[in-house]
Amino acid sequence: MAVPKKKVSPSRRGMRRSHEALSREAHAECPNCGELRRPHNICVSCGFYDGREVVAAGKPLKAAVRA
Ligand SMILES: [Zn+2]
Repeated sequence: MAVPKKKVSPSRRGMRRSHEALSREAHAECPNCGELRRPHNICVSCGFYDGREVVAAGKPLKAAVRA
């Protein structure tokens, strides 16, 4: 089994972790209700996508996808 030769210093560990920061999730305003939604996704609050109602408003998205 390969074993590290030296203990990783706090500085080096920090340098490695400098790439691990999470970026903010993308969002866009819904053209129908103005609520913030994720791009290319059905609006959770009004159920609209591409100008038409895809899911009944207020219905949980998971149940709608399965139906
Ligand atoms: Zn909406």
